[in-house]
Amino acid sequence: MQDFGDQRRTKIVATIGPASEAPAVVGAMIDAGMNVARIGLAHGTLDDAIARFHVVRQAALDRASVVGILIDLPGPKVRTGSFPEGGIRVANGDRILLVPGQEPSSPVAVSIDYPGLLADCRIGDRLTFGDGNVVVEVVQDATDGLIGVVLSGGRLEGRPGVTLPADRIQLVSPTPDDLRLLDAFLELGTDMVALSFVQTADDIRRVGTPPVPEGPMVVAKIETPTAMANLGEIIDASDAVMIARGDLGLRCAIEDLPHFQKQIIRTCVQYGRPMITATQMLESMVSASTPTRAEATDVANAVLDGTSALMLSGETAIGHDPALAVATMARIAKRADAEFEGIAWGEQVRATRRAAPQNDNALITDTVTSAAWQAANELDAAAIICWSESGQTVRAMARFRRRSALIGLSANPRTIRQLSLSWGVAPIEVPDAGNEQEA
Ligand code: PEP
Repeated sequence: MQDFGDQRRTKIVATIGPASEAPAVVGAMIDAGMNVARIGLAHGTLDDAIARFHVVRQAALDRASVVGILIDLPGPKVRTGSFPEGGIRVANGDRILLVPGQEPSSPVAVSIDYPGLLADCRIGDRLTFGDGNVVVEVVQDATDGLIGVVLSGGRLEGRPGVTLPADRIQLVSPTPDDLRLLDAFLELGTDMVALSFVQTADDIRRVGTPPVPEGPMVVAKIETPTAMANLGEIIDASDAVMIARGDLGLRCAIEDLPHFQKQIIRTCVQYGRPMITATQMLESMVSASTPTRAEATDVANAVLDGTSALMLSGETAIGHDPALAVATMARIAKRADAEFEGIAWGEQVRATRRAAPQNDNALITDTVTSAAWQAANELDAAAIICWSESGQTVRAMARFRRRSALIGLSANPRTIRQLSLSWGVAPIEVPDAGNEQEA
């Protein structure tokens, strides 16, 4: 019999990109521990993304593995036009022309896909590229653009995001393009969809997909101070949350970021929603074969904070060895899982549960899972087995982070794949036994 007790509890989301789209690489990533494959739509074509979707599904099928697929919608993020293959390096003091549009970028002229660039940006504004590695200050108007001076140099490659002054730029999510892209993946049966730059619960509602399991889980990316201010209502309206530390770190004081991470995790647990801690977790492994000490510690600390899942971005999308990045994250997470204070965490969850879940079903699920946690502890049970059609009961059980096995049974294959994101859950598809067994 499979030893569920020995499995890693914290799940791994890995981004599929040019370095990892080949079937053999995806297979190796699954073997190394990828639970969810993230396909970002901000880079590349829709056809590329659809091809990646099929590669992941086939590789999972070949291995009889449960792998969820998360489609990440680009949202209203402003990006540059593509840089030449291999990227370019800009140095402090370089002068570059910033022009509105989607034309390819070059070392002397960088296109910015924001039509209001000339009207909305002023002399003295600072534009940040990528995850903040390159900073350019606008110093002068030009006939058809703006002249900027590089304050902080670095490499620019692909189509990095551009952070413009937040007080003048309106972010509306989902965009019409998001909804068009989403349609293609609803037809393919995606398991999860991530919405970028969510600001309010209404943004989530505008996605308009049916509730799980008929529709995908809607994952709210928390990446702005407004989203932090509306955190409870956003989590309540979502099925899961991504702590998008890249953009959030550009828009809040950097010293707030670690505490926002903990606050988001705690709030998600109160609402019984899984959450993904994302960005720069093993960043140096884009080119190195081992992570830095700080990265290994960051991954372990996210596990100890109670995150459901950890995410790899560039490490697997463009990195030199995607499977090695997954295997390294799996090792660090498994070691940290063993230190997790399960009982103290469960007691804290019981003490801080929401006093009034929103409806009778939620109240029953809350009460039953809480009682099951207590009973399992008193009996020193080796496992909790939890049947659920929609997966909600299993997700509510997972929030207690009990160290022993949590086996999630469902007859719905999409529910099974959606459970690939939940902490500690070993999802198993079983024949349909009828609704009367719903727990
Ligand atoms: C982030 O900002 O951390 C993030 C995950 O978003 P993006 O899709 O821009 O990588």
